Formats: sequence, structure tokens, C-alpha cells
Amino acid sequence: MEEPIKKLLEKIAEEYRLFAPQEIEDGFAIAELENLAAWRPSDRQPLFSFKKFFVPACETLMKYEGAKQEETANKEKIGLVGLNLLDLKYVLLYDLVFANDSNYQQRRQNIFIVAHNQVPPPEENFTHKEFGEEDLMNFSYDVFLVFGKDSQKDALFVAGSKKGKEVLERCNLEYKDLAWREAHQPQKLEEIPAKIQRRLMFPHNEKVWEELNERCLRCGKCTIACPTCFCFRLDDKPELEKGTGERQRCWDSCFFDEFHEVTGGHDFNPEIKNRIHFWYYHKFARIPKEFNMTGCVGCKRCHRVCPAGIDIQEVIKKILEIDEND
Ligand code: SF4
Ligand code: SF4
Repeated sequence: MEEPIKKLLEKIAEEYRLFAPQEIEDGFAIAELENLAAWRPSDRQPLFSFKKFFVPACETLMKYEGAKQEETANKEKIGLVGLNLLDLKYVLLYDLVFANDSNYQQRRQNIFIVAHNQVPPPEENFTHKEFGEEDLMNFSYDVFLVFGKDSQKDALFVAGSKKGKEVLERCNLEYKDLAWREAHQPQKLEEIPAKIQRRLMFPHNEKVWEELNERCLRCGKCTIACPTCFCFRLDDKPELEKGTGERQRCWDSCFFDEFHEVTGGHDFNPEIKNRIHFWYYHKFARIPKEFNMTGCVGCKRCHRVCPAGIDIQEVIKKILEIDEND
């Protein structure tokens, strides 16, 4: 362990509870970081991403008692250590999607991000993205550790925010200062794949969806594991006798019946082929249109958890292979 990185983590830990991907009893997973000296950046990806720290599986948005309401944003200070470029990309998407969400914004302000430039292997990363200088400009982080090729030594420290800069200053470490970027909008991230967008705008590539219709079990595992699946439902939980209650926001899945039901019980998307098309359409057509980035970071977690073995990379290939006039 390089002394400067340990020093940095110790300084952050004075204020934040630290979590990082690491080897634990159940395998490689994100857990509380207790042994700071043992932390190493890794190119491996835990099955469950950092999603729950930004968009919890279930959160209470507000509580009420009679006409009195109280917002309940979690203000715990959390330090997330070891985010890779794919992680930073879905965090950017959350920041854009929840830009006007006060609960998200309060939680986000209390998260400290330490990222690094180790890229996951191709089997867990079908975007094959290599680290480039532009990544330091495009993504949101507090401190970025740039390691040399084939080495976990000699990291270059980059401050990406005011709080990152303050911590690095307090550690007396040399760093590159990009904290001024905070006021800037991210530059264009990637060429949006126009061809796939066009083909997903209308569910006309029937062969692909018919085949998936036979295979998909609508279990929703892919939506739970996918870091860019942020769709939710709202649950009101009133305590009628006491005049109190709360509103919760919980993850939902477009593979579930309730997700598609409207008042009166009608379901506009009863068939699996429509639901799975909707899933791809949202990631590769609608999100690019709304946020100028794809709604998929290429991590392949959806494939890792799918009991039917559906491989997103193969599906995209098939969509692109089909003749446009089909
Ligand atoms: S590869 Fe799958 S799990 Fe990963 S972001 Fe894309 S859709 Fe989500
Ligand atoms: S994990 Fe696989 S089987 Fe389950 S809903 Fe997703 S695509 Fe369908």
C-alpha cells in the first residue's frame, strides 16, 4: 500500500464512513472499509454496484403528522472508494435524472467519491473503454487516482471538487487541480449510437423480441443488478388511527405487472416482448434523447444475473444485424 493513498483515506475517514469493493466472505462485494492499509484499486466489478448509495432500494421521502410534513433525507456522510469509469458514468446519469430531486441532492452532497482509472476486463465491460484525459473533465468525483500502466504505484492525485481539494491540501499531497470543473457542464461523452436508437424507436424488429419473449422469465433480476435502472414506485403508508404516515420511494422493475398497470387495472404492456423492448428502448433511445448519453455503461451485470442467460451484447448485435426494412 502506498503511504500517500493510506494517508488520503485516513483523512477522508475522519469525516466519512468509507465503503469500497473488496474481497469479503461472500466474494467480491462493496462493504465497509475497515482496513484502510489493505485497500487496492481493482479492475474487477462487484455484482452489486454503488447504486444503492445514490438511489436506495427503499427510502422514506417524507413523514407527516396531521397537516405537518417533515422531509427525511439521509444526511449520513459516506465516502465511496474505488469507483471506476463505468461507475462514474452511471453516477453522472443519476445526477442528471435527479437534478431537481431534493432528497437525492441532499444525499449526494454528503457523498465523497474516490475514483480510479483501472478499467474492467472485456467480459465485464463491453464498451472496452480505455482511460483518457477527457474522463477527468467529464465525470463527477472528489479525488481521482491515476495509476500508471500495469502498476498500482505512483498514483497521480487529481482534485475534482472543492471538498476533494481541501482533503488533499490537508494531507500535504501534490495534486492536479481540476476542482474548478464543478461549475461546468460535462462535455459530450460519446457518440450516441444513432443506428440502434433508430431501430428501437418503434418495436418493429419483431424477430428479436419474439425470441426474447420465449426466454425471459420476467423475474426482474436484471433491473435490480443494473446500475442504470433507476425506475421507482411510490408507496404511501398511512397510520390511519394516529393521523401519521410516510411516503416511500422504492426500486421497481418494468418487468413486473404492477409497473404497467394504470387506474382501473389495465395493463398497456402485458406481453414480455413489449416489456423487454421497453427496457432496451429506455436505455438506448429515450435516455440518449433526454440526456445526451446512453443509459447503459456496458458492465454486463444484467447478463451475470439473468437465469435465462440473456446477453445484452448479443441482443444489440442482433438488433443491428436485422435489415432496416424488416
Ligand atoms: S450492461 Fe446491463 S447491467 Fe450494465 S448498464 Fe448496461 S443494461 Fe445495465
Ligand atoms: S433477468 Fe433475464 S429473465 Fe429475468 S427479467 Fe431480466 S432478461 Fe428476463
